[in-house]
Amino acid sequence: MITVSPDHSSRAHHPLGPSTLNYVDPQMGGCLGFRNREGDNEAAAEGTTNHEIVDAAITAWKASDRSKPLLDFFPEADEDTRRWHEFVAASIQPYLDKATAIYNEVRIQITTEDGKPVTFGTTDLGLLIPDDEFEKRVTLVVLDFKFGYLDVPEPEHNRQGWAYACGLLEMLGAEGIVPDYVETGFVQPKRESFRTHKWRVEQFWGEKDAAIRNLIQAATFTRANMADSLLNPGAACDYCELVGKCPAHARIHALAARKSMQLPEALALNVDAIDTPEKAAAAMAWLGFVDSCADKIKAKCRDVAEEWGGSVQVSAPDGTEYVYELKRRQPSRVATDVEGIKAALGDMGVPPETVDGVLKVSIPLAKLENEAAGIFAENAEEKMTKKAAKEKISSTLEALGLVERQGDVTPYLKRKQIKKQIKEEN
Ligand code: SF4
Repeated sequence: MITVSPDHSSRAHHPLGPSTLNYVDPQMGGCLGFRNREGDNEAAAEGTTNHEIVDAAITAWKASDRSKPLLDFFPEADEDTRRWHEFVAASIQPYLDKATAIYNEVRIQITTEDGKPVTFGTTDLGLLIPDDEFEKRVTLVVLDFKFGYLDVPEPEHNRQGWAYACGLLEMLGAEGIVPDYVETGFVQPKRESFRTHKWRVEQFWGEKDAAIRNLIQAATFTRANMADSLLNPGAACDYCELVGKCPAHARIHALAARKSMQLPEALALNVDAIDTPEKAAAAMAWLGFVDSCADKIKAKCRDVAEEWGGSVQVSAPDGTEYVYELKRRQPSRVATDVEGIKAALGDMGVPPETVDGVLKVSIPLAKLENEAAGIFAENAEEKMTKKAAKEKISSTLEALGLVERQGDVTPYLKRKQIKKQIKEEN
């Protein structure tokens, strides 16, 4: 067992550090005025804890004789967390085994040509790996762990990966080490995704570091001026702390709300507007589109809800609040032995005719348990509610192996509450 000591949550962050750059770069759909919204939600805390655990495991593995697999250095964890740790360990073990140098949790910085700091950050893992065929040919591998559900941009274009790699190349260059290749990658255990991209260093170095310096210079200028024409409201706004204060976002948000009245309302309002053959055909095309990607939309919404603490909500312009909570549907329960159930219930004081009276062609377990619970609660020595009696019966049948759960736990979003605030017309 290892103890987790590095405290990642208290690390200093540069306001334009590597992890903000995808949100800042307009070429990635970002905005030069973007400011990171500090996250102290449950998902962020869980991500920090898992980073600390992975880092501690790598540190312990490095200090060992390296004969045991990395996974042995992870602490015990619940089933889900263990699965994520297994994915991380399986992804990076082949790299660790070949590495001649391992840099975990290294503070890197990118500087100007005359040595002034431009930005800094902390890499999760950097490794020097000699080529299988030509030992003298070395690759710098830079890996980042993401414990969220949302996908990250492709490594080839991912500015965060570029920045970590540039910082490590600068650090190694100062020690006289110049790798031949650089490979950046992102390990996303919750998505079971591990993707990397590799460049020759001469194609990377000089181009990507210059792009990052230029990006940070443009963002610094934009932050100081916040001119509407420099901003690019879009997907980055969802994570920007300036939402609500930023004029560019307010303008585009008002325009979008006017045009679509937000998604839930648009569906209701536009029905009356379908009044020509062309609009009917367009409406049918939209329906077909929604039908064909409904599952993907639901899955994406569940991912977002998972990332943001288990619920999502939006207020429509008419005051209606749409609140959805992430729930998990348990697998269906199936009776495996009807005679066994009769005997078990008989032992609990429930006469067999109750079972026979309820059981017909199929096995309506919930109904049976409900009927039996009433009798069991009535005859119980200690006073008991029907709900408690039903729970007792269900757990007894399951413990005896007379009822099995079949299928998987299915996550779904449940509408929680609809509050319509009537707007007063003046
Ligand atoms: S809220 Fe404003 S500054 Fe922030 S990302 Fe959106 S447009 Fe850019």
